[in-house]
Amino acid sequence: AKKLVEVKNLKMHFPIRSGLLRRVTGAVKAVDDVSFDIYEGETLGLVGESGCGKSTCGRAVLRLYEPTSGSIKLDGEEIAHAPFDKLRRLRPKMQMVFQDPQASLNPRMTVAGIIGEPLMEHSKMSAKERTERIYELMDAVGLNRDFANRYPHEFSGGQRQRIGIARALALNPKFIVCDEPIAALDVSIQAQVVNLLEDLQDRLGLTYLFISHDLSMVRHIADRVVVMYLGKVAEIGPRDGLYEDPLHPYTKALLSAVPEPDPVSHDNANRTILQGDVPSPANPPKGCNFSTRCPVAMDICRRLDPEVAEVKPGRFVACHLYSETTSQTAANAAQTV
Ligand code: SF4
Ligand code: MG
Repeated sequence: AKKLVEVKNLKMHFPIRSGLLRRVTGAVKAVDDVSFDIYEGETLGLVGESGCGKSTCGRAVLRLYEPTSGSIKLDGEEIAHAPFDKLRRLRPKMQMVFQDPQASLNPRMTVAGIIGEPLMEHSKMSAKERTERIYELMDAVGLNRDFANRYPHEFSGGQRQRIGIARALALNPKFIVCDEPIAALDVSIQAQVVNLLEDLQDRLGLTYLFISHDLSMVRHIADRVVVMYLGKVAEIGPRDGLYEDPLHPYTKALLSAVPEPDPVSHDNANRTILQGDVPSPANPPKGCNFSTRCPVAMDICRRLDPEVAEVKPGRFVACHLYSETTSQTAANAAQTV
């Protein structure tokens, strides 16, 4: 399949200023040297604990932030440092569905106004064509056309997220970043919104970056998964491989914390409980950034930052346990995780 999005060595560092002169004294490395590709038509899940940089990463990929450094290609076009007019030209191709539809929809605009806004900005449609397109989009997301002149507060959370999705679809994007699109919704309607996103993907040939802390949901929707820890990629792999045979100690710990659906097969002996707090991204540990919490950390881990390497076809891991230079002792240690 074709690569629609190519992210290479992406860094998003926010300066820390202190003292009277507000001098830059450090940086929060929210996204630190992250690389991944997204293939056309797939859903790439992006998971990790809150504060791991996944949302910042999603926003940088869409160029809602200008990254500190690195490369982002959309459909072969470099956008990491693209000027305003180039971004404006490419904006219709890449859109975002936000976590909180309440906060992302203008409360003073009607549904038609909200969905029609990108059309006003980016298309030369007549008012009549625009109205037709708004109705079409409302149909596509399952909103009654009679509601076109109502305001966001008149809708439920699930319906508001449908409005947000319709707006994201208005310009026929190829790529959509869904940032925790169901986290703010009642559990009872989360599945409906996920089903809608999947249905739209099939009908419209969309490509998704699906950001979530909910590992069960990502297992349901994603084709491949990126696991982030403290601004860096820990592991990337196809969904089934990654969930059935996680390689990185952090992925193992994350997955062992997910409730087992079948209590009979549940083996508590295999659970890894993560020790300690997540370190600050302003002051990450030396060497492997997981070394302060990793149950199998070795000496080398505290000295050397492991590179992301392809250790099996399609399986990418940043961990010394899998590097060639590491001894058999380390490989044995991995068995006990
Ligand atoms: Fe653990 Fe070392 Fe692997 Fe980091 S590199 S995850 S500390 S074993
Ligand atoms: Mg899918």
